[in-house]
Amino acid sequence: NKINIAIDGPAAAGKSTIAKLVAQHFNMIYVDTGAMYRAITLFYIQENSEDFDELVKKINLEIILKDGQRVNLNGEDVTERIRENDVTEKVSYVASKEPVRTFLVEEQQKLANQKNVVMDGRDVGTTVLPDAELKIYMIASVEERANRRFKDNELRGIKSDIESLKTDIERRDQYDMNREISPLVKAEDAISIDTTGLSIDEVTNKIIELANV
Ligand code: C5P
Repeated sequence: NKINIAIDGPAAAGKSTIAKLVAQHFNMIYVDTGAMYRAITLFYIQENSEDFDELVKKINLEIILKDGQRVNLNGEDVTERIRENDVTEKVSYVASKEPVRTFLVEEQQKLANQKNVVMDGRDVGTTVLPDAELKIYMIASVEERANRRFKDNELRGIKSDIESLKTDIERRDQYDMNREISPLVKAEDAISIDTTGLSIDEVTNKIIELANV
């Protein structure tokens, strides 16, 4: 029987960390939709073109869902590259384009058709998997989100400062909430979880409990 879990919410709310653990627990597949938007953004930067119809036609995007998601762009593994600043700066702009969303939503639905997935993003509960068995809308204060991203970056060996992280998080949220096509919004039937002050285990267990009933 098919079971899908959608985890949406603003930038750096802890979605991917939690989604991975929930997927592990239920032996489901974790799908990071943000990485797909990031990969198209990298292609946009490389091609230096505003013709989004053409970009999605030309792109060769491979999502490899084995032991953590890897992303290949035109045959090259870009899993780490797409976390860099130039991509992060432009991704919300690229993600607001209709051809980009139409293309990726279809790819994401294909992935969810093959396997039981825990999928994280901005529009999974509203648009990609409107029939998901469980929908979570994950939020946290902007201070907490900037702090977490700072520590994340440290682990990745990337230098950052809290104030610019905060600015970036807020700017992306504003852009994502105000775009015309499937903006960031809580699905009506999603359950909100504010992760401010909660540990990774606490949030993970909460979702596992919700999925079990
Ligand atoms: O999740 P992550 O922060 O990597 O997502 C990067 C960006 O991709 C988001 O800020 C948003 O603009 C876009 N995105 C989206 N829809 C999704 C996932 C990500 O528009 N389902």
